[in-house]
Amino acid sequence: MGSSVLVTGGAGYIGSITVERLTQAGFRVVVLDDLSKGHGETVPDGVPLVVGNVGDVDLVTETLKAHEVDAVIHFAAMSLVGESMERPADYYENNVVAGARLLAAMVEAGVDKIVFSSSAGVYGEPEQVPIRESHRTEPVNVYGDTKLIFERILGWQSEMSGIEYVSLRYFNAAGATERCGEDHRPESHLIPIALEVAAGKRPELTVFGDDYDTPDGTCVRDYIDVRDLSDAHIAALAALDRGCSGIYNLGNGEGSSVLDIIEAARSVTGREIPWRVGPRREGDPARLVASSSLAEQELGWRPEHPELADMIDAAWRWVQSHPDGYAG
Ligand code: UDP
Repeated sequence: MGSSVLVTGGAGYIGSITVERLTQAGFRVVVLDDLSKGHGETVPDGVPLVVGNVGDVDLVTETLKAHEVDAVIHFAAMSLVGESMERPADYYENNVVAGARLLAAMVEAGVDKIVFSSSAGVYGEPEQVPIRESHRTEPVNVYGDTKLIFERILGWQSEMSGIEYVSLRYFNAAGATERCGEDHRPESHLIPIALEVAAGKRPELTVFGDDYDTPDGTCVRDYIDVRDLSDAHIAALAALDRGCSGIYNLGNGEGSSVLDIIEAARSVTGREIPWRVGPRREGDPARLVASSSLAEQELGWRPEHPELADMIDAAWRWVQSHPDGYAG
């Protein structure tokens, strides 16, 4: 019998695909999700779904004990840069306060291992690219700040109460599996929006600024296949079993601009993607590209699907098989 893992936010985009891959790898999984953003139908048959909030200490403690949980993977969070600048208090409440309550429940239930979904947003505007984990952390948006604060809490909690943690700083997740894909309401992410335009559901895409200090003036991001991202959590659980805590970037080390993504989506779908330039989005750094060599060395993880076209192709296939998202 594999070890038992509680996945918070396990009905969301990255969470659902991680649940899928954990179950395939033989872990016993319990999902905790308040379904405010997640989709209950992503949870595989045989995987218990507890509907509730990570900040509910009694519920989480009870769940950890009832399922004899060995480790927690903590995805549940608000995760939109633009929204975080409009609703800072909600982001600190959900990503920091509720997260701290989750740690309290873990202490109460005697669970001492956690993998945390952090973000490249902790770095802010990078001084050097690719970014290493030792790069200074100075978030330029509320979302990134909430992730950094929670990492600090984890650091102290680890020192003082002996938990082990792995914090994974995601760059930009992309792609899908056959069962699970990206379905945010409303959608705000670049690749799904480009595919909605390709599918004729939106007339055009707005490029948020073309006057950045990048080769084509649009923002550069490091897109990483969501299957690779999910597999890093399994590698992180193995590291925790060896008693190793750490903080790791997860990216491909390749930068793609907004215009590169539009062109790749056009090429994969064979459809035109009309776009126009609009104003910058608040809180967007110009370039975020990862060095993931530490994860390679210490977690033994490396991306198996580094091609942007493959990620977009997987996302396009999911969109075509789920024309109305999870509602359909
Ligand atoms: N972006 C854009 N138009 C859109 C959505 C996103 O130009 O309709 C840009 C956004 O400014 C950022 C990049 O695409 O530079 C990736 O944004 P996304 O929201 O997908 O991910 P984030 O980088 O915020 O995690």
